[in-house]
Amino acid sequence: MTYDFDLFVMGAGSGGIATARRAAEYGAKVGIAENSGRLGGTCVNKGCVPKKLLVYASRFPGLMTDAVGYGWSPVESTLNWDELITKVNDEVKRLNGIYQRMLDNSKVEVFHGHAQLIDAHTLQVGDRQVTADKILIAVGGEPTRPDIPGIEHALISDDLFNLRPQPKKMVLLGGGYIASEFACLLNGLGVEVIQVIRRDRILRGFEDELRNEIQNAMIAHGIRIITEASIECIEKTDDGVSLRLRYSENAEEIIADAVHLAALGRHPNTAGIGIENTKVELDAKGFVQVDKYSQTAEENIYAVGDCCGKMELTPVAINEGRAFADTMFGGKSRLMAYDNIATAIFTTPEAATVGLTEEEAIARYGEDRITTYRSRFRSMYYVLPGKDEKTLMKLVVDKETDKVLGAHMVGDYAAEIIQGVAIALKMGATKANFDATVGIHPSSAEEFVTMR
Ligand code: NDP
Repeated sequence: MTYDFDLFVMGAGSGGIATARRAAEYGAKVGIAENSGRLGGTCVNKGCVPKKLLVYASRFPGLMTDAVGYGWSPVESTLNWDELITKVNDEVKRLNGIYQRMLDNSKVEVFHGHAQLIDAHTLQVGDRQVTADKILIAVGGEPTRPDIPGIEHALISDDLFNLRPQPKKMVLLGGGYIASEFACLLNGLGVEVIQVIRRDRILRGFEDELRNEIQNAMIAHGIRIITEASIECIEKTDDGVSLRLRYSENAEEIIADAVHLAALGRHPNTAGIGIENTKVELDAKGFVQVDKYSQTAEENIYAVGDCCGKMELTPVAINEGRAFADTMFGGKSRLMAYDNIATAIFTTPEAATVGLTEEEAIARYGEDRITTYRSRFRSMYYVLPGKDEKTLMKLVVDKETDKVLGAHMVGDYAAEIIQGVAIALKMGATKANFDATVGIHPSSAEEFVTMR
C-alpha cells in the first residue's frame, strides 16, 4: 500500500512542528495541517512567548525604583500599552514566518486548513483528501469556560494579547499558572489586580512553602487575592460587567468596574477531528490515550503534547514528538522520560522547581527518610534599594541514598538557576555532590551548594 505521506501531523504547534521536522530530517515525506492560520500553536501565539514578553515589560517599574537605591535619580516613565501590544504581536508574526521557513526548508508540506480523520490512514484537510502511513495527533488544547452563569462575559487567556485599551482594573479568576502569572504581569504594568481563588492558596500541586512565598509576595506587591470564594455568576450591567462571589452562606461580594479574565484550566482540542472514525480512545475529559511510545489504540496513530494531558508544557510536547520521530523514522528507539522535568512560574517573584516536592517525597518514601534543606534570605541586590524581597531555596533529600529528589526556588532568575540544577538531578546527584561543588560568590545560586 502506498500513501501520499509517510507521516501526517495534525496541528502545527510546538509538538507537531518539532516532530514533522525531525521525521523529515530522517527522510520521511511529511505533511502538517494547521487550521488557526498561524503556525506555532499556543506557545508562540497565545502562551509562553507573548506572556514572557509582557512579563519582561512588567518588571521595569521595579527596576526603576531599585535604581534609586543605587544612586540614580528617580525616573518618571509611563507605559504606552498600545505600543507594547503592537510590538508583542509583531514579534509573534515574525516567529510565525520563521516556522513557515523552517518547515519549507525541511520540505514539510504545510496545509492551512482543518484536518479530520476519515479512517486510520485517510484525512480530510480543507477540500483535499490525503493518505498517510502514520498519523500524529498534536492538536493541543484551549481554555475551558466552566459552567458558571455569565462566563461568556469573561475574557480568556488568548484575549490578553490583543486587549486594548489598557484596563484600569482586572479580575483574574483561578489560582493556576495562568491566572497567577497574569495577575503579576498586569500588576507590574500598572493595572489594579484582584485574583479570585476557591482554595486558601494559589498554585495547587506545587511545594507548599513555595506557594506561601509567592502568594505573600504578590499581596505585598499590591495584588488583592480573594481566597476561598466561589464564583456565583458574571453579569452584564449598564456600567459594564460585574462578578458575584460567595464566601459563605451569608457573605457575598460584588466586584464591578473591572475586566474579568477566566483562567480556570484548559481542555484538549480533540472534538471534531474524526476520532470516532478510528480506534483512538479518549478519556472522559477528551485527552488522547497513549502508551509510553505515544501510540494510541489505533496502531499507526500517535499523539503528543497538550492533547494527551500528561504535562502541559511546550518542552514536553517537543520531546515527546522527537522521541516518536527518532523511534519511528530514525531507527533509535527512545522513550520520553517524565521524571525531573523542571518548570517555572513566571510570577513576580519568579519560581521554578524540579523533582519531588517535600510532600510528595514524604508520601513516596516516608517521613523518616526525607530531610529538607532550606535557605530564605534577602539577596544582596535588594539591600541598597531597601526592599524586603526574599529568596527561598529548598532541597529535598533522601537520607538513605543521599540523592537530591527535588529543588525548589522562589526569587530572581529562579528559572535560569533551576534549569542548571535540573541537570544535576537528572544525573542522580547526591547532597554530597552539591556540597562538593564550589559556589560562585557573590550570587544567590551559590546557596544551593552551601545549604547545611
Ligand atoms: P490550571 O489547571 O493550572 O489552573 C486552573 C485553576 O482554575 C485552578 O486554580 C483551579 O482551582 C481553578 N478552577 C477550575 N475550575 C474552577 C471553578 N469552576 N471555579 C473556581 N476555580 C476553578 O490551569 P491554567 O489554565 O492556569 O494552566 C493550564 C496549563 O498550562 C497548566 O497546567 C500548565 O501546564 C500550562 N502552563 C504552563 C506555564 C509555564 O510553564 N510557566 C504557564 C501557563 C500555563 P483548583 O486548584 O481548586 O482546582
